[in-house]
Amino acid sequence: MAQIVIRNLQKNFGDFTAVRESSFTIEDGEFFMLLGPSGCGKTTTLRMIAGLELPTSGEIFLDGEEISQRPPSERDIAFVFQMFALYPHMNVRKNMSYPLVSQGMSRAKVREKVAEVSKILGIEDILDKPVGGLSGGDRQRVALGRAIVREPKAFMMDEPLGALDAEFREHMAEELRALHDRMGATTVYVTHDQLEAMQMGDKIVVMNNAVVEQFGTPQEIYDKPATMFVANFIGSPSMNFLDFKGQVGPGATHVVLNGHDTQVPALREGAEGDLVFGVRPEHVRLSDASDYRARVLATEYLGTTQILTLETANGEIKARISAATNVQPDTHVGLEFKSEAVTLFDRGSGRALR
Ligand code: ATP
Repeated sequence: MAQIVIRNLQKNFGDFTAVRESSFTIEDGEFFMLLGPSGCGKTTTLRMIAGLELPTSGEIFLDGEEISQRPPSERDIAFVFQMFALYPHMNVRKNMSYPLVSQGMSRAKVREKVAEVSKILGIEDILDKPVGGLSGGDRQRVALGRAIVREPKAFMMDEPLGALDAEFREHMAEELRALHDRMGATTVYVTHDQLEAMQMGDKIVVMNNAVVEQFGTPQEIYDKPATMFVANFIGSPSMNFLDFKGQVGPGATHVVLNGHDTQVPALREGAEGDLVFGVRPEHVRLSDASDYRARVLATEYLGTTQILTLETANGEIKARISAATNVQPDTHVGLEFKSEAVTLFDRGSGRALR
C-alpha cells in the first residue's frame, strides 16, 4: 500500500517560492504525472516527497503517516534518478545488488532478489555484462532494476526518458507503463511533455509558476480545463481562445459572439467584462448555414485530418476537420462550435467559468 497525500505543501528558497500551497492525493498503485513547463516546481515537489528536500511548510502523508520531516532512508520511497546514473565499470548484477548489499542483506538473498527482478525486466541474459557497453534501453532497465530490488512503497521518476530520441522514448514509455501495470507500485513521474503525461498517466497534476493549476484524470484535464493555462498547455494544436466582451448570468446557456448566438454548457456562475470562448480545434465545424463567417488563411494536410487556420472577428483560430473536405485558402466559410465542448473563461483571472 502506498497512498501519498500532499497538503498545502510549500518550498521557499530564500525569497523565491518554488512550490506554493500544493495539495493533491496520489492513490495506491497509481501512475501519477507531475506535468508543467520548465521551472514550475515539479522536481522540487518530487524531491520533497522522496525526502531529498524538506518543505518550508505543509504536510506529506504516506499511508496516513506524516513523513515530511523524515530523512529519505526512513521513507521507503525510491527516487529513480536520470536513468543513466549507473556505475559504468560494474556489471549489471553488481549495479542491481548494490542497494541490497549496502542494506546488509545476505548474499543468497541478494542473488535471489536480483534474479527475480531481472526476470520481470527481461534482462537475465545481460547480468554479467558491464553496464558501460549496454544499449540505452538496457541501461534504462538496469537503472529501474536497481530501484525495484529494494521493493520500495513508491517510485519517484524525474523525466526518466528525457535523454532519449522520440521513437525510442515512445517505446520505453510503453514498457514502463506495462511494467507498472504488472507490479502495481505507486509511481510519481515528472515530465514537461503533455503527450507523455496524457498517454501514461492515471492522474495528472498540472503545475505552473509554483502553483497546482489542476489535478485530475487525463480526460478531465483535456475536456474540462480549470484554467486557460491548462487549456493551452494540453492538446496540439491547443485550444482556441476567442476574446469577446459580454455578460453571462448564472444559468446562461448561450453567449453572443460578434452577433452570432452560440450555445454553451449551462453555467452556474455569472461573469462580465473580458471573457474568452474556448473551443478545441476538433470542435470547430464548417457549416454553410452559419452566419459566423471566417476567412481561410491556410490549410495543413495531415493524412486523415487537416488543420485550417481561420481569421474570425474574434481573432485567429484553428479547426481540425476531415482531410476529405475540400477547402481552399482565401475563401470564406461559415463556422459552428460543438456547444457541449465549449469552455468559457474569465480573461482577467484565466479561470474557467462553470
Ligand atoms: P525543470 O523541468 O526545468 O527541472 P521543474 O518544474 O522541475 O523544472 P524545479 O526544478 O522544481 O522546476 O525548480 C523550480 C524553481 O525553483 C526553479 O526556478 C529553480 O531555479 C528553483 N530552484 C530549484 N532548486 C533550487 C535551489 N536549491 N535553490 C534555489 N532555487 C532553486
